[in-house]
Amino acid sequence: MKSSRRSFLITSLGVASSVALTRQALAADAAKLEESDPTAQALGYVHDAAKVDKAKQPKFVAGEDCSNCQLYQGKAGEAFGPCPIFNGKLVSKDGWCSAYTKKAG
Ligand code: SF4
Repeated sequence: MKSSRRSFLITSLGVASSVALTRQALAADAAKLEESDPTAQALGYVHDAAKVDKAKQPKFVAGEDCSNCQLYQGKAGEAFGPCPIFNGKLVSKDGWCSAYTKKAG
């Protein structure tokens, strides 16, 4: 009886720590891209496409944003989604960067 209780406790602790690790991994994956991030700055990323500096980003066309970019991996209805250009960090669906590629179709 005692030993089965001990193994139950050990198993529970193991499960609890894997859940904690999974949560940590998810939190790390789900980091939002900051505009101050050096890669974001290099590519002129902004959270709001309306704020693109058109003098610095002459190829920007009004109406372009992450939600209609080929590379955007966010789900419909979510405000942020992963972008492979920024190692899967979350970009705003209303954002824009100079790697913008119009979604086909
Ligand atoms: S590559 Fe596309 S989805 Fe990614 S940040 Fe630039 S515009 Fe947005």
